[in-house]
This record gives sequence, structure tokens and C-alpha cells, in this order.
Amino acid sequence: MIEQDERSLTAGKSALVLFSGGQDSTVCLAWALERFESVETIGFDYRQRHRIELECRIKVRSEIAAAFPDWAGKLGEDHLLDLGVLGEVSDTALTREQAIVQKESGLPSTFVPGRNLIFLSLAAAVAYRRGAGRLVAGMCETDFSGYPDCRRDTIDATQQALSLGLDTAMQIDTPLMYVDKAQTWAMADELGGERLAEIIREHTHTCYLGERDTMHEWGLGCGACPACELRAAGWRRYREGSAGA
Ligand code: ZN
Repeated sequence: MIEQDERSLTAGKSALVLFSGGQDSTVCLAWALERFESVETIGFDYRQRHRIELECRIKVRSEIAAAFPDWAGKLGEDHLLDLGVLGEVSDTALTREQAIVQKESGLPSTFVPGRNLIFLSLAAAVAYRRGAGRLVAGMCETDFSGYPDCRRDTIDATQQALSLGLDTAMQIDTPLMYVDKAQTWAMADELGGERLAEIIREHTHTCYLGERDTMHEWGLGCGACPACELRAAGWRRYREGSAGA
């Protein structure tokens, strides 16, 4: 729910982070806390198959606040929006287009068409009410080139549409856009050292299957789904890189 003390943040010095509770958005949150005076988070409940993500969000926020006192003072409210309708839309689209999606583009069946456009529009509406002039989001071209709404071109167009539609500058920062998963680990280390990497390993959620029983050196997950494989491969490249450096 949006609280009453709207526009309490100062535009330009404050940011709203799209925060899912995963590795990428956790690094984005740290990136924003390092730069801005005031940082709030927003998440979306779209009836994701694994609601563990929503629990991870709260846990990661509290772990970061506990581990980094300087950041704790900047970390403001969390907003969770109910987007149940997105589940209806994506189910329909996936059912109808599943064969095409698998055959032609290689897009994973987890792709929810237009999801990021909807997220960014709603986040901008909340940021506007809260007086924040920028959004921070973890979209990335490097590992997910198949997701058309993760491309910077899409983000640029969205940024322009939002700024025009709100009649105020709404900047969208995507610090991970050209960064691969190994570099994401390195960024986490630069921003918050081993403590942040530890929070990411222990408390963020990535696995498509919602598995959280097995602890790997890169974190919790089944280890076999595409999300786990990507995260594990990134971790290995990062470790090899830092060992060789
Ligand atoms: Zn997995």
C-alpha cells in the first residue's frame, strides 16, 4: 500500500528500486544505496509460482539494513503491489503462443510478455507520488538477449514515454544492462564486500523451480534449471577470474 506521506522524497536524490528479492535486484539495491540519499523498494505480487520470492524480498532488505548501518539510514519504505491480473494475461498468452515461443525465438516459457513495461509504468506512478525522479531496475541484455523488454532500447523508449506522460523527468537506471553474471558478483563485492555476497548467496532467490533445500557455493537452488545454471556459471567465472587476478 502507498502511504500518505507522499512526495516525501527529494527528486534527484532519491530512487525507487524494482526489487524482486533475486540476485540482480539485490545488487541494484546496493548500487542505489551507495549513490542516493533515499531509496525505496517496490515489488509485485503477480501470483508467481514461487511465492518464496516475496518472502526473500523482506529478508534481504532486513539483512542489508542490519549489515550496513550507512545504508540502513537511507533505506525507506517497501511497496508491494498486487498484480494478480498479470497472471491471467500471461497464462492466456503463454497457452496461445507456447509452440511459437519454444520453436522460434528460444524464449523460455517463464517469459511473461510485456511484464517489465507494466512493472516500470506502475513503479513510475509510485515514484511520482513519492517524489522520486528515478527508477533503478536490473534488466540486462547480456545474459538474456532473448527478453525484448530487457533491452536498453526498450528502456529508453519507456523512459521517454513515462517522462512525457507524467510531465516530469523520470530516469530509469539499469546498472546491470551490459554486465554478465560474473561481473554482477564482482559488483556485489565492490559495493558491499563479502558480507553482501553472503547475503546474496544465502537469502536471494533465483531458482525457477522454487527449490531452496540445497546450498551450493553460489546459493540455494535446484542447480539444474536455466536460472540456477546461469547463476552457477557466473559464480564459477567470477571465482576463476578473481583467483587468476
Ligand atoms: Zn533451479
